Amino acid sequence: MTPAGSLLYATDLHKAYGPTPALDGAAFSIHAGEIVAVMGPSGSGKSTLLHCLAGIVRPDTGSITYGGRALSAMTDAERSALRRSDFGFVFQFGQLVPELTCTENVALPLRLNGTKRKQAERRALEWMERLEVADLGHKRPGEVSGGQGQRVAVARSLVTDPRVLFADEPTGALDSLNGERVLELFTQAARSTNAAVVLVTHEARVAAYSDREVVVRDGRSRDLEHIG
Ligand code: ADP
Repeated sequence: MTPAGSLLYATDLHKAYGPTPALDGAAFSIHAGEIVAVMGPSGSGKSTLLHCLAGIVRPDTGSITYGGRALSAMTDAERSALRRSDFGFVFQFGQLVPELTCTENVALPLRLNGTKRKQAERRALEWMERLEVADLGHKRPGEVSGGQGQRVAVARSLVTDPRVLFADEPTGALDSLNGERVLELFTQAARSTNAAVVLVTHEARVAAYSDREVVVRDGRSRDLEHIG
């Protein structure tokens, strides 16, 4: 059963890689418009939890539902389609395509969904303006700074108007000033679309941008009361 209002809901997740349990009974819940910081030390299972929730990794046991539908009941093709239509992703190192311009990178998810080039690039530019990187449109990722590249990656994650954004250490490779700015713009942009944000991080300051914190330790999760 999915609790009322929960968009993405997981219970009792277990996942082991060989003898190592990466998840050992983790649970998670998020509703539309909510920003949840997933905190915890390195190796505690945060990324594995994110990958399970996003339907990238299949847990050994446990249940995950999105919009009331069990991910385990979907075929691989259905899960891939769901990721393209409803989910957005931001990684630690932008993972932009080096051969494409920044605008082409942001437009790429739309192009893959069949949107025509002109329309895709127009929407890409709108998001790049909001992330304050519109002037970098013609540059390639190798020609922009780390912070600029992450803002381009954030624009790319939002361009399909996803219902859930998964961000895995999105500021982990940035200095604190650039990291703050990326987080500020990212969370503002996500709030404007009412997307749910699963924000994996080991940086305590990120919590200030979230509504709620979940702490993962040894593959188990627990909710923290938000302070301030
Ligand atoms: P975190 O994101 O908190 O750093 P991870 O979810 O990446 O933690 O990893 C949790 C545990 O699972 C670690 O012990 C890690 O080494 C292990 N692990 C994660 N992914 C794999 C994998 N693909 N193959 C083998 N072990 C893995």
